[in-house]
Amino acid sequence: MKMNLVWKLSWRRTWFEWEKPMLEDFHIQVAQSVIHKDKQDVWVWKDDKSGCYDVNSAYTKLNNDILREEWEEYTKLWNTKALPTAQICVWRALQDRLTTYENLQNRGILVNNGICVFCSIQVETNNHLFLNCVVVARIWKLCDKWAGIQFVNHSMIK
Ligand SMILES: [Zn+2]
Repeated sequence: MKMNLVWKLSWRRTWFEWEKPMLEDFHIQVAQSVIHKDKQDVWVWKDDKSGCYDVNSAYTKLNNDILREEWEEYTKLWNTKALPTAQICVWRALQDRLTTYENLQNRGILVNNGICVFCSIQVETNNHLFLNCVVVARIWKLCDKWAGIQFVNHSMIK
């Protein structure tokens, strides 16, 4: 007797844009899976011949296909003389992984009204916090003056 089983997936939070391709891959993999009623579920690490996870194979996998392109994109950032904490902050901003009010709300963490604490005008997003906030713009101008450079205004971080 053949049983038709259907996946009913639900998620705790909405997906970030950067996660959506992974979600689509996951759905494709799940759709291709064959469920055997009489077999025990097992975990299999596909990137090692033994089927067992180990750090070395995970590192190799990440280094070979997932991080390579991204890593090269950020080479200039990692090679700056900025403090590592500043580099990581910029990297997280470029990934939209800073804990802005918008990201906290997307994760289901209620935060006041989500309005920027500096200007109290707009929602605190990554782009607003670094580029569009009128209060922060004044700080950037002071930094530009101090450093003697001309600030290039962009509307999007990435
Ligand atoms: Zn603001």
